[in-house]
Amino acid sequence: MENIADYKEIVDVIKEKGGDAFKRCFQCGLCDTVCPWNKVRNFSMRKIVRQATFGMTEIESEEIWRCTTCGRCPQRCPRDVKQIDSGVALRRIATEYGVFPTSVTPIRSISASLIGEGNPINEERKNRAKWAEGSSVNAFAEGMEYLYFPGCYLSYDPRLKKVARATAAILNAAGTDYGILGSKENCCGESIRKTGDEELFKRLARENIKSFVDNGVGKILVSSPHCYHTFRNEYPEFKVNFEVSHITQHLWRLLEEGKIELKKEYKKKVTYHDPCYLGRHNGIYDEPREVLKGVPGLEYIEMAESRVDSLCCGGGGGRIWMETPKGERFCDLRVEQAVAAGAEVLVTACPYCITNFEDSRLNLGLEDSIEIKDITEIVQEVI
Ligand code: SF4
Ligand code: SF4
Repeated sequence: MENIADYKEIVDVIKEKGGDAFKRCFQCGLCDTVCPWNKVRNFSMRKIVRQATFGMTEIESEEIWRCTTCGRCPQRCPRDVKQIDSGVALRRIATEYGVFPTSVTPIRSISASLIGEGNPINEERKNRAKWAEGSSVNAFAEGMEYLYFPGCYLSYDPRLKKVARATAAILNAAGTDYGILGSKENCCGESIRKTGDEELFKRLARENIKSFVDNGVGKILVSSPHCYHTFRNEYPEFKVNFEVSHITQHLWRLLEEGKIELKKEYKKKVTYHDPCYLGRHNGIYDEPREVLKGVPGLEYIEMAESRVDSLCCGGGGGRIWMETPKGERFCDLRVEQAVAAGAEVLVTACPYCITNFEDSRLNLGLEDSIEIKDITEIVQEVI
């Protein structure tokens, strides 16, 4: 296969993005021992790094699109190769050349939808606040303490709108001073950036930042760990700093301050899945667990591969938009782990995880064995 990207080009992009990190690799292979792909098929980040070092990357290959940016291998790398940044740099080259293997072609329509409507699911921008109808949610106005930013999937997806409504119900019950921007917000841009479309990320980020600044936003509450990650760690690249909280942090704060009380019994065995972008990427492990453990009657179970070793659901790095064949879906393994641990409810706090786990539950015929819930749905039930 022809190598379109030459060595200099790869090195330039990688340098710009993550330093000359590929060259530091000494091929120990530790990355491959923890990569979730190796539970379902052969995949080698070590090999990708080696090829890139010699300018041998086949950018037409599916391989550079597999990484879900789960964050497991960077933690194990003894040479700080920055596999995620370096891998995204390769995707940037492929994106610039317009080279997408078949499984990645959906990205083209995702990009068109992001450009046209500000969301990846081809929904109309004007309907972005429709989820809130009948939920006593106000438009954000200057002087309000928090902007609640539900993100694309909670704004439009029928399953996830329930999560947005549960969140609003909790915020209302707690007396949180908040509003939403509705059609004045865009996708945060985190996942399209990980597919290598840097220009589109910048466009979405700039539009959001303008909207936040124009409307006097200072503090932002988010439901998606992907929005959390990009607002907190990537938007400062544009010389802005909003105070960002994930909803799990806010729930914990509300409990600590006595603004909500977990009163009703929830007599079920519950386990919690750490979303990669909440746990490994941002160190938020305790707040969701503490909230769940405070629910009367709830029996909390920890499943295999939790906290820092959490098994990725497969949805990060733009993989949520790519087709993953049956038998290669990590989310199926995760739902099976939850069932094996004896859980009746698998709780998480990320729209991608919920989407993938709901699919797995149906595909594996486990509808009667396990429920999938966002943490806000349980809290709403018991306050
Ligand atoms: S863990 Fe780091 S040094 Fe080892 S093979 Fe992977 S990228 Fe290279
Ligand atoms: S970040 Fe995760 S999915 Fe990507 S190569 Fe590393 S372990 Fe594999």
